Amino acid sequence: MDGPPTVEELTPPERTLMGPGPSDVHPRVLKAMSTPLVGHLDPSFIDIMNEVQELLRYTFRTDNQWTIPVSGTGSAAMEAAVGNVVEPGDTMLVPSNGYFGDRMADMARRAGGEVVTVDAPWGRPLDPAAVADAFDEHSPDVFGFVHAETSTGVLQPSVSELTDIAHENDALVIADTVTSIGGVELRVDEWGVDVAYAGPQKCLSCPPGASPLTLNDDAMDKVLSREEDPRSWYLDISLLEGYWGEERAYHHTAPITNVYALREALRLVAEEGIESRWDRHRRVASALKAGVEGMGLEMNAPEEFWLPSLNTVRVPGGVDDGAVIQYLLDEYDLEIASGLGALSGDIWRIGCMGHSARRKNVSYLLAALGDALT
Ligand code: PLP
Repeated sequence: MDGPPTVEELTPPERTLMGPGPSDVHPRVLKAMSTPLVGHLDPSFIDIMNEVQELLRYTFRTDNQWTIPVSGTGSAAMEAAVGNVVEPGDTMLVPSNGYFGDRMADMARRAGGEVVTVDAPWGRPLDPAAVADAFDEHSPDVFGFVHAETSTGVLQPSVSELTDIAHENDALVIADTVTSIGGVELRVDEWGVDVAYAGPQKCLSCPPGASPLTLNDDAMDKVLSREEDPRSWYLDISLLEGYWGEERAYHHTAPITNVYALREALRLVAEEGIESRWDRHRRVASALKAGVEGMGLEMNAPEEFWLPSLNTVRVPGGVDDGAVIQYLLDEYDLEIASGLGALSGDIWRIGCMGHSARRKNVSYLLAALGDALT
């Protein structure tokens, strides 16, 4: 074997992150991450856990007791939601109008569920009438939908209409709020969402690693009365309950630093006020949208379903989407992203999330994109 490898001290480039996430991390969050570790059962950490749970409830707009950060990325929170709520033999209804509905479907299948879909084209939200028809046809036990589809830049409106349909049919509702939490209006309790999962790296401007999840009592009743254990030990909510519930007993070693980060990111949400924060995202993203439209570019999502936190812009004919992305990165240290799945090559995805949702970033992005296109 050779000697030790020579690896230089870490000096990542200083990017401006305007892609689909992660977004720019707030300096206060970075500072919180450089504070000393305590043990995951230290009394001071138990206090921090309580604070994070309280701040998460505020941010989700819920009183759900069972509101926690899941150790892992948004997909871990998604798998915790789907893998615990869907029991073998259950039917789960999922949307087919974007990339993340497919991921939900995959997880439901792995959990032993039967998957049925409610269809809408990529780039359109679900129509409540189509959801009602799907309920009539399939009688699903669980209905999942994506509140803010990062692949298409579409915001699902009329959430209460969808949850009403599900509840009239005795189904539980799981909402993907990864790209909406802390950035666009989200009211878990008022809208009748039974389970919501999210990610910290988008509108909360926090590094990935501890991902918000909330379940109401109806969902917890189902989870805690399952006949068969969930297939994942790590994400089994009945076991996680031992750590995040009353007992505070060891389950796994929580990612302490990520929990610190989330605490600070959520403190910033509370300081700004959740509704002011939704307003800021809309205001700043409106300037971004007006700017790209002023350059003669076209938004992919129709105005009424436009998602301020993730702006999808159609790539003009004859332009190489990847070359523009590379130019922005090379010349401006600026990250935006290409389309996913059915929209690959057709759109750019420009995030306007959390600490990245600032007028200064928008001006910079517009100038850089204008340069790239001339
Ligand atoms: N759901 C949506 C809508 C997302 O945008 C993402 C990530 O971009 C995920 C789920 C998965 O989250 P992660 O990549 O953090 O695992």
